[in-house]
Amino acid sequence: MQTAIATVCLSGTLNEKLEAIAAARFKGVEIFENDLLSFDGAPAQVGRRIKDLGLAAVTFQPFRDFEGMPEPLRAKAFARAERKFDLMAELGCDLLMICSNVSPDSLGGIDRAAADFRELGERAARRGLRVAFEALAWGRHISDYRDAWEVVRRADHPAVGLVLDSFHVLARGTDLNAIRAIPKERIFLVQVADAPKLNMDYLSWSRHYRCFPGQGELAIGAFMDALHATGFDGLISLEIFNDSFRAGSAHYVAIDGQRSLLVMLDELRQRTGMPVKGLPRLPPRAHCRGIDFIEFALDEAAAATFETALGALGFVKAGVHKSKAVTRWRQGDINLVVNCDNEGFAHSFNITHGSAVCAMALKVDDAAATLSRAVELLDLPFRQVVRTGEIDIPAVRGLGGSLVYFVDDKTDLGRHWEIDFDAPPSSDGGCEAGDAGLIAFDHVSQSMQHEEMLTWLLFYTSLLAVQKTPVQDVLDPGGIVHSQVVETADGAFRLVLNASQSRQTLSSRFLTELFGSGVQHIAFATSDVFATAKRLRARGVELLAIPENYYDDLEVRFDFPPGALDRLRADNILYDRQGAGEYFQLYTKTFDGGFFFEIVERRAYAGFGAANAAIRLAAQARLVRDPASLGR
Ligand code: MG
Ligand code: MG
Repeated sequence: MQTAIATVCLSGTLNEKLEAIAAARFKGVEIFENDLLSFDGAPAQVGRRIKDLGLAAVTFQPFRDFEGMPEPLRAKAFARAERKFDLMAELGCDLLMICSNVSPDSLGGIDRAAADFRELGERAARRGLRVAFEALAWGRHISDYRDAWEVVRRADHPAVGLVLDSFHVLARGTDLNAIRAIPKERIFLVQVADAPKLNMDYLSWSRHYRCFPGQGELAIGAFMDALHATGFDGLISLEIFNDSFRAGSAHYVAIDGQRSLLVMLDELRQRTGMPVKGLPRLPPRAHCRGIDFIEFALDEAAAATFETALGALGFVKAGVHKSKAVTRWRQGDINLVVNCDNEGFAHSFNITHGSAVCAMALKVDDAAATLSRAVELLDLPFRQVVRTGEIDIPAVRGLGGSLVYFVDDKTDLGRHWEIDFDAPPSSDGGCEAGDAGLIAFDHVSQSMQHEEMLTWLLFYTSLLAVQKTPVQDVLDPGGIVHSQVVETADGAFRLVLNASQSRQTLSSRFLTELFGSGVQHIAFATSDVFATAKRLRARGVELLAIPENYYDDLEVRFDFPPGALDRLRADNILYDRQGAGEYFQLYTKTFDGGFFFEIVERRAYAGFGAANAAIRLAAQARLVRDPASLGR
């Protein structure tokens, strides 16, 4: 099987695109005609550049409005095709991709189309070229791959083959079974594209919302299974039209493309036992058993303030690093690391981003296998010098240049606290008032640029055994925030990804303050939100004030036992209910650097209080304008 990517997926000039494609270890590239036309140089020059980069131009595309034209338009279409054949010869590409006619001038009739293709195949073959036919989901007469295949079958010419494009097939919900009956050598090209499920016309959906396999919601696996039944082992290419991709970095989008193909083909192999030539066998997705710790990069002054705040939240200093200015803070199963060392990764992270979360450590079954899957998937491994006797925790680069560490229990990694940390002096850092009832990490929320959202979604879903929810839109006073959750089936690991195109949302302002993407809030679980609120209040922890109107509205939305609503109101607790499940949330003030903590209690509730997000965002937005209104 040969894999490729179309230049139309990426931003930049043709040369930048080709370099990004080669750097992402692709061997094949589909040349989009517009990229060639806008190139300042002869097609032969492009051909040489492609070769120099170790690539092959696998198709030239798209050729539009060809089949079924009445004369004199028919003759013109053939003349246009001959001109493209000239270009292809110069470019060093032997396959022209033709999509079904959308012109109102075109005439229907399967035999007419087949006759046109037979003649075009004959002309192509004379030059040693081939043509392949794709049914656009919005084609005028041909919009179904089964009809395109019938055209190819009746054209009955060795230089005429079929293109199967997963988007066009799956968007229309066409039955996949007929794919299984197509002889594999007649399929010249397979294009794979995923997409979110949206209710819109096929053309707009295809031109703006396609995404890489695994980033959307289409049944790519079922499509690949049907293709596999034919014995197909030819060309599989990514053809993605997506506004975010074209606004993003060509380099990273090309890597995402490669990553998505590796995962898609590995999954196919797992389902079918099929050997895939030239593709690495990936270690399985890592089973994440939760967050081991979250590390903050702070300077000394900020660390002192932050540690005081952690103490007020009921955390206890549980360890002091043996060789660095790093402390461990603990409550229940929650571990926070405060790093204000003036050397190393956290220090440089702090210089770039200010006070921020610089790393998140995940508990996995096998840290080495997780790292090796990450490396196979082109994630960036990270290493820094550790002192003799200290532990080297495997890590890759995550969002915003932060780190994702992997720890397991099968090696010394399970003892990293003992190995790297000493107990603190007994008088130091303990909280005499006791803890605040926080028991575990509930979820972590990361804010990012809109263009990065699909990248990080794929990062997590390709590496970890997690599921994703559909994108939700949350109303911020400054605009819309897109929010998507990745989580393990048992809820041990839950991550909320947020992005906004408006610069005025809290999510976007956080990016500006942090000078990049990162963790915006961390939610801790408590088993008794009222007891926690009481203890926090006793210690003077400032909580986000929620307006009266919110509670008036709650009163009409739900039935409460007497006094229950007053308790919520008194403690600024947000509330949601789904079926028999209940959810309680409260928020701390925002710390230096823009991040904050949330405290939640779940009673058989699986969501994240989406109904309350707008209320919380408005309360936080009010604080930005009037910091004195904090808490009550
Ligand atoms: Mg296509
Ligand atoms: Mg939250």
